[in-house]
Amino acid sequence: MKAGVIAVQGDVSEHADAVRRAAASHGVDAEVVEIRDAGVVPDCDVLLMPGGESTTISRLLHDEGIAEEIVAHVAADKPLLATCAGLIVAARDAKDDRVATLGLLDVSVDRNAFGRQADSFEAPLDVTGLDEPFPAVFIRAPVIDAVGDDVAVLASWDGDPVAVQQGSVIATSFHPELTPDSRIHDLAFFGQDHAASPADADTDAGADA
Ligand code: GLN
Repeated sequence: MKAGVIAVQGDVSEHADAVRRAAASHGVDAEVVEIRDAGVVPDCDVLLMPGGESTTISRLLHDEGIAEEIVAHVAADKPLLATCAGLIVAARDAKDDRVATLGLLDVSVDRNAFGRQADSFEAPLDVTGLDEPFPAVFIRAPVIDAVGDDVAVLASWDGDPVAVQQGSVIATSFHPELTPDSRIHDLAFFGQDHAASPADADTDAGADA
């Protein structure tokens, strides 16, 4: 499995480790590539769009010609996990002209909504498809304040959605890569119909996640 981590800016190496752990638990070898230029995304089976600064990430994605490749990846029904700033970039509307969103998810987000209250916190989160709560780390996290009909809310915090799924895209307000727990990466890449490894019979178990 070839996993691409968007690496124009933001936290990259933790995501690479989390993908490798999730893949290894399925007996799959993940080759992880860091994406800073156009031309790499089309070869990737799964993609990750990490946290960082959404204004910078979205600008660089468009400048480098990577933005349209990510849109094509999702249009081909291939898995994408977008976290924190990645969620903001993937959204339909970030209500901020400085962010050129990709419209991969029919959600609108409020940047830094959690950040005004506390820069960072960790909370045990019930997530659809996971048996035990997930230790979710929020860092200046966005709140999802509106979701379209095709979007499934996988987890909420304080009444607001913080993990959502639409087709092959899963996005979180929090940072699943910052704990040793790789279940969100597992869910995004192996736990749905769009699983990276269709040959793996186990994937049926979580197909409706
Ligand atoms: N607040 C940042 C933004 O708006 C996102 C924070 C993060 O990714 N940890 O881009």
